[in-house]
Amino acid sequence: MSIAASRARPSGGRPTVPNYPHWQAALADAVTDPVELGRLLGLAPSIGEQAAEVLKTNDGRAGFSLLVPRPLLGRMAYGDPLDPLLLQVLPRREETVPSRGFTVDPLGETPERRSPKLLAKYQNRSLILTTGACGVHCRFCFRRHFPYVACSDQADEWGPTLAALRGDPSIHEVILSGGDPLMLDNDDLRRLLWQLSQIPHIRRLRVHTRLPVLIPQRVDDGLVEMLAGTRLPTRMVIHVNHPAEIDGPVGSAIGRLVDAGIPILSQSVLLRGVNDRAEVLTELFLRLIDLRVTPYYLHQLDRVASAAHFEVPIEEGIRLVDQLRAQLPGYAVPRYVRETPGQGSKKVLA
Ligand SMILES: *Cc1c(COP(=O)(O)O)cnc(C)c1O
Ligand code: SF4
Repeated sequence: MSIAASRARPSGGRPTVPNYPHWQAALADAVTDPVELGRLLGLAPSIGEQAAEVLKTNDGRAGFSLLVPRPLLGRMAYGDPLDPLLLQVLPRREETVPSRGFTVDPLGETPERRSPKLLAKYQNRSLILTTGACGVHCRFCFRRHFPYVACSDQADEWGPTLAALRGDPSIHEVILSGGDPLMLDNDDLRRLLWQLSQIPHIRRLRVHTRLPVLIPQRVDDGLVEMLAGTRLPTRMVIHVNHPAEIDGPVGSAIGRLVDAGIPILSQSVLLRGVNDRAEVLTELFLRLIDLRVTPYYLHQLDRVASAAHFEVPIEEGIRLVDQLRAQLPGYAVPRYVRETPGQGSKKVLA
């Protein structure tokens, strides 16, 4: 009998997900204890214990806790320590090994701030750090050590950010980022969108988010109406790395946004052990185009401390993208890009 077949798997093979009345309830019920995570997935106890050790070591430097919403957990395979969704969220010993060239602020963003919440790095478009909070903690996150304290969560403290935007008529597009802007509730978002729409030189809006993939219930009536109703033509860019992240409810959430006239683009990070094979990326991008999502960026990993084990060498990434080009419609192949500190745009690698 093969090792895989001999693993105990309960029927269904995936953890069950409770029925939540709304997205905030799903968020509040996210798994934060690594030992519990291991137990829910039927993993050897040592895996959760080791993750807890890693978190303790990390906490000395910068806290980046475990956070896994159960709707995402429900898409992980039971009993598989190498599940590609699990690998994105599970603290592993590799995190504690310092790696040359991997730093706390790999993009040099700290000096690019116009106000505590505004990153004006590229021409014509500015990025608002709406909140430091996220619906999941991705271990490879390039902002995992970011000094978010200054922008933590006073949703009505938009004054300085809005003033900076009003004062710079060269800014035509505002990108809501974070953290995850959809962590704000609809009332806070509506207020922000209203204020932005009052600034005449702002013509477009973009929302960079992972929440529709994590907790598809976040795409509720209020959100769809708000995004479809603002004067600012709005695009959404969803962060998604593996085809198994897209289940039926995620597909429906995306369908509602597209039906409401909101174009959706995707961005993915090329990750060792998660999506570094042509078959996996092909399936991901086919699923996305079938949902009317346009693959936009495939990111080379930013060299953030504690994430070195996720890195795929650029030459290998270029080979992968060449393989995708041979198999997919042109519009299904995202631009493979890297961010370099101090550059005026992302650098296209393939
Ligand atoms: C990626 C990025 C943008 C948007 O760049 P596009 O190429 O227009 O998608 C804007 N600001 C920052 C800081 C970014 O990292
Ligand atoms: S969703 Fe994005 S910002 Fe949030 S932890 Fe993951 S990579 Fe970082």
